[in-house]
Amino acid sequence: MRFAIFGDIHANLHALEAVLADSRERKCSHYVCMGDIVGYNAHPCECVDIIRRLECPTIKGNHDEQASMLGEQDGFNALAGEAINWTRQRLSDGDKDWLRSLRMQRQVRDFTIVHATLDTPHKWGYIFNPLDAAASFSYQLTSLCFIGHTHSPRAYVKDRSVRVVPFDTVDLTPGRKYLFNVGSVGQPRDGDWRAAYVIYDTDTAKVTLHRVEYDIASAQKDILEAGLSKRLADRLATGH
Ligand code: ZN
Repeated sequence: MRFAIFGDIHANLHALEAVLADSRERKCSHYVCMGDIVGYNAHPCECVDIIRRLECPTIKGNHDEQASMLGEQDGFNALAGEAINWTRQRLSDGDKDWLRSLRMQRQVRDFTIVHATLDTPHKWGYIFNPLDAAASFSYQLTSLCFIGHTHSPRAYVKDRSVRVVPFDTVDLTPGRKYLFNVGSVGQPRDGDWRAAYVIYDTDTAKVTLHRVEYDIASAQKDILEAGLSKRLADRLATGH
């Protein structure tokens, strides 16, 4: 099996379509969505529609939660909050019901998926370093776990200690635990503007990071035409 594992799409339709096309070319047989389908960018309805039609395992991100909650959204900074209010006006009741129904974490075959952390998934904490990763590892029952949320791809391994390992291709070693941040499809923040996703090949026991170019000019134009903040368009080009 070849799993394409991707998340933090954030309503960036152009980036999502590019990632799905790339994963098809690379002969992926299964899809897994790590949440934050909406927020920030201009195509929340189209992105929700694509993920729903994939019928793949999908977990909830904090933007999915805020966009679909019954009360007023809160707790976001001004830029994110403005985009969420815009998103809430566009999503159908059916899409909101579906986003609200997503689980916080789940197991798929031999791996676990969660948007933020396994130690406190509802609090939306961030894993930025081995110390943060160690807290999540202590709740990780499978040898493999995939996360998102920081928008920066990273691979952590745990044997006697927890450390960061280079993340192009990681050969999985039995007896070790791994935590992979799959990066972001629609708003990368690691200084590389290209959409990020991961392929997990269960036959070769390899996890590889992929970066995909997409039509960023069209994504930016759509943000501006939608009346969303110019800062949201500008940041796509810098990858921050
Ligand atoms: Zn996100």
